[in-house]
Amino acid sequence: MATATQTVAVDPNVNHFVAKPRRLLIGGKWVDAASGKTFPTYNPATGEVLAHVAEGDKEDIDRAVAAARAAFDRGPWRRLTPAERGRLMWRLADLVEARLEEFAQLESLDNGKPVVMARLADIPISVDTLRYYAGWATKVEGSTIPLSMQPEWKFLAYTLRETIGVVGQIIPWNFPMVMATLKLGPALAVGCTVVLKPAEQTPLTALLLGELIQEAGFPDGVINIIPGYGSTAGAALCAHPLVDKIAFTGSTEVGKLIVHAATGNLKKLSLELGGKSPNIVFKDAEIDSAIPGAANAIFFNQGEVCVAGSRLYVEDAQFDKVVDGVSKIASSLRIGPGMDTTTQIGPLISQEQLARVCGYLESGYTEGAKAATGGKRHGEKGYFVEPTVLVNTNDKMKVVREEIFGPVVTVMPFSDVDDLIAKANNTPYGLGAGVWTRDIKKAHRIAAELRAGTVWINCYGVLDPAMPFGGYKQSGWGREMGRQMLDLYTETKSVCTPIT
Ligand code: NDP
Repeated sequence: MATATQTVAVDPNVNHFVAKPRRLLIGGKWVDAASGKTFPTYNPATGEVLAHVAEGDKEDIDRAVAAARAAFDRGPWRRLTPAERGRLMWRLADLVEARLEEFAQLESLDNGKPVVMARLADIPISVDTLRYYAGWATKVEGSTIPLSMQPEWKFLAYTLRETIGVVGQIIPWNFPMVMATLKLGPALAVGCTVVLKPAEQTPLTALLLGELIQEAGFPDGVINIIPGYGSTAGAALCAHPLVDKIAFTGSTEVGKLIVHAATGNLKKLSLELGGKSPNIVFKDAEIDSAIPGAANAIFFNQGEVCVAGSRLYVEDAQFDKVVDGVSKIASSLRIGPGMDTTTQIGPLISQEQLARVCGYLESGYTEGAKAATGGKRHGEKGYFVEPTVLVNTNDKMKVVREEIFGPVVTVMPFSDVDDLIAKANNTPYGLGAGVWTRDIKKAHRIAAELRAGTVWINCYGVLDPAMPFGGYKQSGWGREMGRQMLDLYTETKSVCTPIT
């Protein structure tokens, strides 16, 4: 039975926000780009222009870095106590929470994701992330170190954790608000100043966040927001000699460009990059939870998730049942614009991403893959793709080796566990992995053998600001979230003195 659509009435504040060109936030002021240029951001459900945004470029990055440098070196920010920094962050979280509906709608309009998901997940997680890191502001500590010198020499040795300085943060379009708060949280907690470049496709929630940053009372220049293109604004930020560190989330390809660009002053880098995560269902798994778990692992957020469970390996005896079950769920998911509250699968982010995902489907068919369900573009307006289950696939195919970043899962049978582990690990990536089994010893044995930053056992995709997250191999450098993320934004200084 068809479900009636239920389109959300756009909040008047959201209409007001998108109606006029949005500007850059530099040194506490909203300013036009030095070039005077703007660029459009689109509603991916319709392909129509949603808003115009100032297009930051090298000159604007120079201005923003100068503002961040001045705020770090000379501004009141350095003199705030950790508790005062934490209170400001908590206040920002409260302000975002009070306008949750506006953020959720703006995220849905700009990114395409279901507004229901933005209300339940993206924006509440962003609020929690700010609060989580607000709590850390008062807990950044060094330690005392016992030295093993000759007994007659006595020394006091200790470490200080010091703020790394000016940080450039470059984020992608799949979870714009979550990414912005995840990056800002630890940087602000330890006292860094920031130049944030949102993705060109989804700059709007970061810019609304910028308004609340000012309302919360952060000193001018502590957070600067420069929308623009990666090859211009992003590249200028990565090469800037006065930036001490770059934190990046995005593709492995661009991650490598950033490593090169950062060599000038040997910036510190943290990189959260792509994935092609194996999700493994053993025949002894609780199949009634493994099937929806496997479907959710790939179709959540239209498959535009770095840890998406895109390679599904199923033990022979359960293969047909799992393919059938995941396919049934896939074909039942309701595709539509994010602003319809009945939508479960929204559009992909852009025309470019649509072409990319459809190109992967074509390459799969050419190499012999078959679609058990889905398999093509949905409709002609907007950037929708049917949730797709590909079978007849093997580890040599492009669709199994490369990150598709869309609602496409490849399902492959296995019988031998050693062979399975070799295949699961046979990828340049190592971000996430899933294991579904009732055998607790096997679960932990496999978890230890998988070369991935996070392994989920009998669940998938559970993330929390407190749980470290990041990749092995070409999935990245460093661990975000959790206490480890503070290490990415601080330097350790050892201090040593004789005391006899
Ligand atoms: P990118 O890696 O290109 O974009 C991520 C961010 O990096 C954006 O802000 C982008 O700017 C910026 N950027 C691009 N080029 C440079 C550069 N030379 N220097 C500095 N910053 C730069 O991802 P795409 O948007 O192109 O998506 C392509 C593919 O990447 C996807 O299909 C998916 O496979 C993968 N991806 C992975 C993500 C993840 O979380 N692991 C997230 C997003 C994408 P701009 O907005 O101009 O592109």
